Amino acid sequence: MAPFCHSRPLLIAVVILGLAAVLVVTLPEVPAAGEPGVRTDMPARIGRFRGERILYCQNLQCLRTYSDSDHPPTNCLSCGAALDEVSPAERMSLPPDTRIFKRRYTDGGGRLFYVSVVLTGADQRSIHRPQQCLPAQGYVIARSRRLSLPEGARPLEFNLLEVRDGTAARREVRRPLLFAYWYVGLGRETPSNGMRLLWTATDRLFHRQANPWAYVAVLTDDGPGAEEQLKAFLVELRAALVRL
Ligand SMILES: [Zn+2]
Repeated sequence: MAPFCHSRPLLIAVVILGLAAVLVVTLPEVPAAGEPGVRTDMPARIGRFRGERILYCQNLQCLRTYSDSDHPPTNCLSCGAALDEVSPAERMSLPPDTRIFKRRYTDGGGRLFYVSVVLTGADQRSIHRPQQCLPAQGYVIARSRRLSLPEGARPLEFNLLEVRDGTAARREVRRPLLFAYWYVGLGRETPSNGMRLLWTATDRLFHRQANPWAYVAVLTDDGPGAEEQLKAFLVELRAALVRL
């Protein structure tokens, strides 16, 4: 009996989350009319870090990238195709009303933070969990933790993944990474995708609202002191980005 008793809250949670996912998929589409919980112009600075755009060549045979510090041209220097802040792979895999905002933040001292914000449209499939995307890119998630930083009116709760290169056969092994992410709705934040789906379902069901949700992800190189620097950056990023 004991294992059953212990697993009962888990079972209830699984049933609720499953129900939420079914509701999200089956409820009639409600226009995404609400306000997002994040600013849609990415902050030019986060503390001492300066933001740069990353531009992707839209030619699938080329895929060259440029950043603002490269003084990017209007078209790719290699192939002449148009450049855009959204990569061709993202554009093909996400619903067309998905909005994506990205910046690379640098302090000139070697520490880089890549920030991406994915904003859902009417379709919740805009948001892909990194547990689905990272393995497809040849990475393994060595460790996953849920952390809480006591900041401001409410703590910042987020997921922290320790990401490693999963392809030993590669000639050039990619560096270990830290990957932090959480979800932001209007006046709401959660590190849980299940909670986000539950709120999405109840908003549609009881309020006839489909407020957009933002998936906020931050990537940086792992190494000595990296986690503490990332936490400090996340606190400043949230203060600049999230409309609390
Ligand atoms: Zn190109």
